[in-house]
Amino acid sequence: MDFKLNNHFSQKLPADPNTENSRRQVTEGFYSFVTPKKTSKPQLLHVSEEMREELGLSQSDVQSDAFLNLMTGNSLLPETKPYAMLYGGHQFGNWAGQLGDGRAINLFETEGKTGHWVLQLKGAGETPYSRSADGLAVLRSSIREYLMSEAMYHLSVPTTRALSLALTGDPVLRDVMYDGNPAYEKGAVVCRVAESFLRFGNYQIFTARNDIKGLQQLVDYTIEAHFPHLGKPSKDVYLQFFYEVTRRTLDLMIHWQRVGFVHGVMNTDNMSILGLTIDYGPYGWLEGFDWGWTPNTTDRQHKRYRYGNQPNIGLWNLYQLANALYPLVDESEGFEEILDRYKSGYAVKSLEMMADKLGLQNAGEADLKLIADLEECLQLTETDMTIFFRKLGDFKKDASVNGFDLIADAFYNAEELTEAVKTQWNAWFSAYAKRIQNQNLTDEARSAAMNRVNPKYVLRNYMAQLAIDAADEGDYRLIDELYELLKKPYDEQPENEKWFAKRPEWARDKVGCSMLSCSS
Ligand code: AMP
Ligand code: MG
Repeated sequence: MDFKLNNHFSQKLPADPNTENSRRQVTEGFYSFVTPKKTSKPQLLHVSEEMREELGLSQSDVQSDAFLNLMTGNSLLPETKPYAMLYGGHQFGNWAGQLGDGRAINLFETEGKTGHWVLQLKGAGETPYSRSADGLAVLRSSIREYLMSEAMYHLSVPTTRALSLALTGDPVLRDVMYDGNPAYEKGAVVCRVAESFLRFGNYQIFTARNDIKGLQQLVDYTIEAHFPHLGKPSKDVYLQFFYEVTRRTLDLMIHWQRVGFVHGVMNTDNMSILGLTIDYGPYGWLEGFDWGWTPNTTDRQHKRYRYGNQPNIGLWNLYQLANALYPLVDESEGFEEILDRYKSGYAVKSLEMMADKLGLQNAGEADLKLIADLEECLQLTETDMTIFFRKLGDFKKDASVNGFDLIADAFYNAEELTEAVKTQWNAWFSAYAKRIQNQNLTDEARSAAMNRVNPKYVLRNYMAQLAIDAADEGDYRLIDELYELLKKPYDEQPENEKWFAKRPEWARDKVGCSMLSCSS
């Protein structure tokens, strides 16, 4: 195993001088050195081929004991000093103080074929930031994070990546639904990979503690390491940096809305400074199109992190980041202007995104009604978002295919398809046909363009759950099958048609399928 080590985060920024692995407030440094916990019977379950190649590892590398031991925290590369990062965050709208990597340990940084990467173990034992928890992760949530990280990458949604999924051999106690019924589950570790794991909360904690020198050191490092094109730090460059973060965050929100991904816990400690999807916990995929849906049971009451609210929360989180960066600029005007641009940018980009999903050329204000009418139709009765948009690609502009029949597979409740529902859909399809007749694009070309933005295969919650249930019984084949399927989410893959289907009825109210908790 030949990594091209380049530990710039830990070389450029000072560590917590206390090297004891005890739970505490860390008031000096940006991270704490910590050694992963040894595991009793590590077993590798899966390795991402794409990530393996990117990191310059061979097949035999990843089959070696050395790799297994490295990926499960049982051994370290020589001359590397793993560490957990210090950060704070707003959780569900409230400032929570110090959080930090309570169960994530960065192993080292390395140069891959196309970029710079940090390798991080999630679930490798406690750190100074573990608070009252154990620093471990269970197989169930690790499978979800592993599969989804790589699937998001193949969907072209910015994301942290995953290199490996392994069992630790150690049992972990969890109360899945927080109802006083804890049980032992299999422990697991995912090796996550990203250019950086810095979050909004990494900056917030310094401002909250009024450590402006620390804040500046971290921001200067971030610009130099990850936004070098912005040049030498200055007040103006700090604002440009903030603008870049808002731009990337907005892009990410638009991507999530496009594919129907609901993160579930958009706390500021789960917001990547690079605009990546980070921390896959109780996330979920929209099945029936519903602005109000949240997969997270902890969020059931207020639905702060519901599908339709994600772009707003992205903005709310950016306000918190602006507050954190404010002391470096000392003027609010620049920040306000940038935050306003997020709002106007959202209007433009969400229109573009919806136009792409509908195959509309030269979309403009005039199309807003068509889009709003569609969103209304989609909510008349439970209508599967993924199936609807994918099937819509087969609509013909001469309306020779009946639109309502074309999308029949997307409806969950046949008995709710009343005459009134049909009439509303038919009206929408007439308007849609008229709109696409007015553009110079063949049906084939429109369909091909739509199929590049409307995925056919996503990791529906029940699919992940099937893989989890099988893995619990020691059968890991479905993990690999789904991993392969999700490499080409926009391709037809006729051999995999069975995964292009609505959520089965048994999964409607099942834990893990429609209800997910933060317990992981
Ligand atoms: P999350 O909302 O899952 O992103 O986690 C919020 C905070 O709780 C972060 O600081 C995590 O590191 C920490 N945390 C979550 N689960 C555990 C665990 N099992 N052990 C230690 N810390 C945890
Ligand atoms: Mg987190």
